[in-house]
Amino acid sequence: MDAAARRIPRGEKALPLFPSDGKGPARLVIARRIPYNLGMMECVTRKDGDVLILGAGAAGMCCGLFAARRGRAVLLVDAGTRTGRKLRASGGGRCNCTNRQAAPKHYLGNEPRFTARALAAFPPARFLALLGELGLSAHEEDHGRMFCDQGAEALANALETACRHAGCRFLLGRAVAGLTPPPDARADAGGGLFHTRTDKGDLAAPKVVLALGGPAWPALGGTDIVARLAGGLRLPHIPARPALTPFELSGPALALCRDLAGLSLTARVSIEGGPAHTDGLLFTHQGLSGPAALQISSHWRRGTELCVNFAPDIDVPAYLRAPERGKKLARTALAELLPRRLAEALLTTLPERIAGRRLAECPRAELDALARLAADWRATPKGTAGMARAEASTGGLVTAAFSAKTMECRTLPGLFAVGEALDVAGELGGYNLQWAWASGHAAGQAT
Ligand SMILES: Cc1cc2nc3c(=O)[nH]c(=O)nc-3n(C[C@H](O)[C@H](O)[C@H](O)COP(=O)(O)OP(=O)(O)OC[C@H]3O[C@@H](n4cnc5c(N)ncnc54)[C@H](O)[C@@H]3O)c2cc1C
Repeated sequence: MDAAARRIPRGEKALPLFPSDGKGPARLVIARRIPYNLGMMECVTRKDGDVLILGAGAAGMCCGLFAARRGRAVLLVDAGTRTGRKLRASGGGRCNCTNRQAAPKHYLGNEPRFTARALAAFPPARFLALLGELGLSAHEEDHGRMFCDQGAEALANALETACRHAGCRFLLGRAVAGLTPPPDARADAGGGLFHTRTDKGDLAAPKVVLALGGPAWPALGGTDIVARLAGGLRLPHIPARPALTPFELSGPALALCRDLAGLSLTARVSIEGGPAHTDGLLFTHQGLSGPAALQISSHWRRGTELCVNFAPDIDVPAYLRAPERGKKLARTALAELLPRRLAEALLTTLPERIAGRRLAECPRAELDALARLAADWRATPKGTAGMARAEASTGGLVTAAFSAKTMECRTLPGLFAVGEALDVAGELGGYNLQWAWASGHAAGQAT
């Protein structure tokens, strides 16, 4: 015990707060009675636990659960007054909690392979087993997407309860503002205390897990704290960009979207020379949303044109040129290919005469124009809804600075990072939560 810990102010008691971790004698931890929202008898301690987890979101709670089950004294700190705010909102409340196809190719970041070890150690099947243990279940929808049958709130509540049963404590309504490693952290193999500065006092622990997420969707707790901590800790960090966020359009393209607001269909959305996604597309009063648009937004750069194929399963030029359809009016043929409202709205952007012409009578240029309307509609977004409505963010702590097996920092032993705090962003479809579970599990096994 160090000298500071031995000084017991008058009127305060020395209490053994946490049991031995089995590696040595039980540590005496000095406790003072200061009102935290931990409950009647909770205490400020010289050492506030074996493991301090900053952020009680999906990754933080998963990490806490596995660390506590290994006998670690775990304290989770979060700025929110509730745990897992994004988790509770996930999938519009339905919680797309994992994806059966989880693999590095579904992740963005400078080093998608970084995800491989943690995903292999804690694959979707293991998460589903954990879900069963929590008394919950999931079902599969399209593209391997798994949804929690009981919904997002139930999952967040069950995870928090399991953490508490395992011995985790929570300090909610506490904003983390700074983190100082032990003085000789870079030189030795760890063992000193990390000091975490919060808006309501300091906390100390030999192991700290950064589970503070990214800046996406600030109304649900997204902040740039990881970037700020990285600066102080001299850890490499990639600036965050919004991912999985809707597009905002302008001009005639916006007018079309407004006309069709609420309509959804399966479409293929791509960026010239870039990736393409075939999935649901939703017209909104601001532009385009739905899974296909959100997926592409993670790759989109300002000024880039979007290409939309509204009939991705059909060879539209061949369809329009087929001799057996020659007698059909262009309007009728297009309405067979696309939802009628969409066909009508798109046709208003062509000279009026074309809609009422039989396909066999359309000159080649007009057939080409019709085909482009259905299969190669283009618009350059004025922007995206940005971080305010982003379901995730790209960027974060550079993964090369962390172990892919344990999530421990290579240069600061005792410091771990999990979930979106790292430069790992998943595609839409349960990949982000699967990463939160897998990385949380990896760190929980190692702290
Ligand atoms: C609306 C919405 C819907 C989503 N739906 C899905 C879905 O269906 N499937 C899917 O896979 N992914 C979904 N995601 C993404 C997924 O929720 C996140 O990727 C995941 O929650 C990341 O987990 P995390 O623990 O790393 O971060 P978070 O869950 O964001 O947790 C970070 C925690 O840190 C806390 N925090 C932040 N700053 C501070 C600070 N200074 N001090 C203290 N605490 C702080 C926050 O309050 C938060 O609780 C969705 C995201 C949003 C916004």
